[in-house]
Amino acid sequence: MGLGTSMLLSPKMKLVIVESPTKAKTLQKFLGEGYEVLSSKGHLVDLPKKNLGVDVEHDFTPEYDQVPGKKEVITELKKAAAKAEEIFLATDPDREGEAIAWHIKELVGDHKKTKRVAFHEITEEAVKESFLAPREIDQQLVDSQQARRVLDRLVGYKLSPLLWKKVRYGLSAGRVQSVAVRLVVDREKERQAFHPEEYWEILAKLSDSGDFEAKLLEKDGVKLAIGSQEDSDRITAELKKEEYRVSRVETSERKRHPYPPYTTSTLQQAGVNVLGFSGKRTMRAAQALYEAGLITYHRTDSTMIGEKALEQIRNFIGKNYGSNYLPTDAIRYKTKVRLAQEAHEAVRPTRVEVTSDKLQVTSGDELKVYELIWRQTVASQMRPAVYEQVSADIQTGSYLFRATGSKLIFDGWEKLNMGEEARSLPELKEGEKLKLLEIVPSQHFTEPPARYTEATLIKKLEEEGIGRPSTYAPIISTIQDRGYVSKEGRALKPEDAGVIVNDKILVPYFTDVVDLSFTAKMEEGFDEIARGEKNWVELIRGFYGPFSQELEKAEESIDKSSMTTIAETDEKCPDSGHPLVIKLGRYGRFYSCTGFPECKYARPYIEKIGMTCPDCKQGDVIIKRTRRGKNFYGCSRYPECKWASWKDPREQKTN
Ligand SMILES: [Zn+2]
Ligand SMILES: [Zn+2]
Repeated sequence: MGLGTSMLLSPKMKLVIVESPTKAKTLQKFLGEGYEVLSSKGHLVDLPKKNLGVDVEHDFTPEYDQVPGKKEVITELKKAAAKAEEIFLATDPDREGEAIAWHIKELVGDHKKTKRVAFHEITEEAVKESFLAPREIDQQLVDSQQARRVLDRLVGYKLSPLLWKKVRYGLSAGRVQSVAVRLVVDREKERQAFHPEEYWEILAKLSDSGDFEAKLLEKDGVKLAIGSQEDSDRITAELKKEEYRVSRVETSERKRHPYPPYTTSTLQQAGVNVLGFSGKRTMRAAQALYEAGLITYHRTDSTMIGEKALEQIRNFIGKNYGSNYLPTDAIRYKTKVRLAQEAHEAVRPTRVEVTSDKLQVTSGDELKVYELIWRQTVASQMRPAVYEQVSADIQTGSYLFRATGSKLIFDGWEKLNMGEEARSLPELKEGEKLKLLEIVPSQHFTEPPARYTEATLIKKLEEEGIGRPSTYAPIISTIQDRGYVSKEGRALKPEDAGVIVNDKILVPYFTDVVDLSFTAKMEEGFDEIARGEKNWVELIRGFYGPFSQELEKAEESIDKSSMTTIAETDEKCPDSGHPLVIKLGRYGRFYSCTGFPECKYARPYIEKIGMTCPDCKQGDVIIKRTRRGKNFYGCSRYPECKWASWKDPREQKTN
């Protein structure tokens, strides 16, 4: 949709303004003649980049500036608006969309002829329905968005200069991102404090009509804990002598129920776990699918499916899979969170008949994400899978083993989503004697809590009430872009800068900013504003008073010289004899003399991980950094030995 076509508007023309050119194209198809659909190409105005742009002395009034490069768009929109008979603002159906609509109205709209329409899917029916019931701009939604924007701006623009002064130029900190970094840093500490404990597992390979395995559980009715090779050897020797008999067989039926259709959070988690996509990548594909009219709005925390769609999905299941896959009644999932007023449906295909093979999209990502959404939606309305579960106790002397197996009776929704691997047991009868093939002891160690992945961090943020559909992906990508957290495989690891800013500045001086429940309360505050239960200026004021005091205190008390010190060492400076410390510099860690600035001694930091090079078997494995700040592992004998790896070779060894 070229903006130039607005010149062709007849006086009776209705003007529709959306925020994206692709969406404009899809809409134009449904609305047809008499409507001209134009795009604002995102926000027209925003807070300025160069300064705070919030008047803290006067009710935190934001100063909105025209977004650079938007002059032409605004001129065209104004021209079209002047000629139009009616103006419809059809931006996305959430707080950000409402705020964009409000800004468009303020900038180009004639207030009397401007109306707001909102729809959750770009389909002919939903769009036409919304045009039959246009409304005014919802100021509560706009205020809620404005409150978030202003609060994030205050935290970001006030904290960053403090970090520049006290730690390193160029650092920045954000509101919800800081809590996310804290979670990653705390998890790393738990891992470092963890002491792995040794334990042994003993399996018996047994034979009846077929071979199977059973696990040693008890001795004389007491649960066994085998902590050493010595104990394991002794028990193994005893077990080899005994006779094996089936003492009890229990069969039960177990149902596996389908999962609810996707919300933004669960869609992003599935993107990570199933497709290996970052939250950002999944959302980019979902955005394109939404704008093409293929899925409902992808920013949502509701698991609800509308009645009409439910009926279509149920018809589809009955027709394509048979009535035995269709529950008697539609399944209605409960939404956990208290929804804000703009809440709507789960992310689902707009037309269930459109299977992914019928889809005409250009990007492979879109196809994959559509397939994911389609399967989850259809599966969510299918009957549960049914397994027959068998549990058999096997007695040998005073020891008890247990073998479990399962058999799929009915696949149900798992027809669409791979179910668990069935592990069948031969048919066992109580009292029956078994033949022992082998006793297999194995050594294990208890594992520290796992590092977060993007998926588990999103899940955690949601559980804590911190994330919102519009914020998960940006939070996760921002903490990585800022160099506070890096990815090793899928695991998120804190970087030195993240640990320093968290431990030395945010946690001690800005308790609220990095507090989980405080942040959740602020998010709830935004929801209350959206529901008309709270005034946005009050919310900001309640935060800003204590925050500006904390800021003042931090300015005064933080001692810059100790900020970048990561660790002390036992080493003495070869020049001056002062103790050496490890510091974080612009390009990573280095050794520095505590006699600085009088003594300028410094040398690069080489971190050995306590392992010899797996390639040359002579050098030490050391941690190195790329120019862009990403850690990798290399050999200390470089350049003679060129071995290098992104993955921690210690972890490869234990796996
Ligand atoms: Zn020195
Ligand atoms: Zn080597």
